[in-house]
Amino acid sequence: MSSSSPSSPIKVVIVGAGFAGLTAAISCRERGFSVTLLESSPTRRQLGDIISFGSNSGRIFLRWPGVEAALDPLCHHSDGLNFYAYDGDFLCRQVWDSEKEWGKRFNGHRGEIHEVVWNHAVSLGVDIRLGSKVIQYFETESKAGIVLKTGERISGDVVLAADGVRSLARTIVLGFEDKPQSSGYAVYRAWMDTDKLKENPLTAYLADPQVDHHEGWLGPDVHFLVATLQKGTKCSWVLTHKDTADIEESWSAPGDIEDAVKAVEGWAPIVHAIIRATPPDRVVDWKLVFRDPLPTYVSPQSRIALIGDAAHPFLPTSIQGASQSMEDGVTAAVCLGLAGKENVQEALKVYEKIRYERVHAVQQTGVTNRDNWHKADFDEVKKNPASIKLPRYDWVLNFDAQEHAYKVYEETAKALQEEKTEVTAAL
Ligand SMILES: Cc1cc2nc3c(=O)[nH]c(=O)nc-3n(C[C@H](O)[C@H](O)[C@H](O)COP(=O)(O)OP(=O)(O)OC[C@H]3O[C@@H](n4cnc5c(N)ncnc54)[C@H](O)[C@@H]3O)c2cc1C
Repeated sequence: MSSSSPSSPIKVVIVGAGFAGLTAAISCRERGFSVTLLESSPTRRQLGDIISFGSNSGRIFLRWPGVEAALDPLCHHSDGLNFYAYDGDFLCRQVWDSEKEWGKRFNGHRGEIHEVVWNHAVSLGVDIRLGSKVIQYFETESKAGIVLKTGERISGDVVLAADGVRSLARTIVLGFEDKPQSSGYAVYRAWMDTDKLKENPLTAYLADPQVDHHEGWLGPDVHFLVATLQKGTKCSWVLTHKDTADIEESWSAPGDIEDAVKAVEGWAPIVHAIIRATPPDRVVDWKLVFRDPLPTYVSPQSRIALIGDAAHPFLPTSIQGASQSMEDGVTAAVCLGLAGKENVQEALKVYEKIRYERVHAVQQTGVTNRDNWHKADFDEVKKNPASIKLPRYDWVLNFDAQEHAYKVYEETAKALQEEKTEVTAAL
């Protein structure tokens, strides 16, 4: 292990300016690396709706000066979530009090939170190049790079591929093209003003300027969650349901209000009222893509690493997709900083080793949480309502990715070196 010379910073090329790419870029700039961030979108779009950051990624935001203050007015603030059965019977309230010491959570509009993080990256001198679609990745023993649609080639010491669930970089890492699969579920999602909710006595309480509300209705193979924020002026809802249609996924795919209502036929009138209060152009239909866990996140020459959804798409019921993508970005940067420019290949291998088991264990919680809700026997749930509370794991949420990476880097690098020596000896 050597430390990087200040006169020759590590040159990092990052593909994708989602939360994985931006976090990696910020964490790399904090360590003095040169960073080029390529994003295919021509503009920084305010796309998406509600997104959740648990206290494990909340602590990453808290380390970035000014970011907490910018996020606070945008985010949802409540101390718990009310659960109802699909027919409207109140089941229980899950409060987050016991996990306060784990740190602060941030839940809000993806586009608005993204803008805050983007601005922080720019303030640190991250060179973000919009309209830069990557069409090819390459690597040699001594460098890695990409080719843009324009034909321009950009290379560096390493490439961090944060190009999302439809990652192109997976092909060079895997050596073949793997196709995303349907998870068997889709989500109608909406973000809207609360004006219409105020007009209906059933829903008016949600537009409370004093208190943010968070409520969920659960039924067989469907769940509906609603949250209000920004002093009762904004509302977001998500309706996860069975879906066997094809898996083409786009955040801008329009959803249909009547189809959403059909998915909750016979449910409590308030659920229908919330959906029907939604302007038709505010609903998207998002097919949930799933991919088998990858055997590796790192390319054959160990100069390209997948981070975020490119490495491991999450089901929303894990409530950890964005958080894990940020943990990846921080971990990769810490590893590169500790390894230094001459040892970036070691850094990427250690990054993978540190992240792999944790990410897959957290990913699995998305399946267990969803099945706990969707496959519940609701007669039994009514006898034991607490059974549908979300498990809150301290190993997931009370975790500091940066501290952890610093702590285990050396031992992990050593273990990898020993593994390599054993394999060589056996040949
Ligand atoms: C537009 C959008 C809206 C979303 N809205 C929500 C939401 O409301 N709620 C929620 O929970 N999750 C949402 N997600 C998903 C969520 O952001 C991610 O699951 C999570 O944050 C992990 O982020 P990521 O950076 O790994 O991937 P992503 O957030 O998917 O970011 C990947 C980035 O890579 C870029 N990219 C892809 N291919 C290329 C290429 N070839 N060349 C250059 N750039 C490329 C994409 O344009 C994108 O900006 C959204 C994702 C996107 C892209």
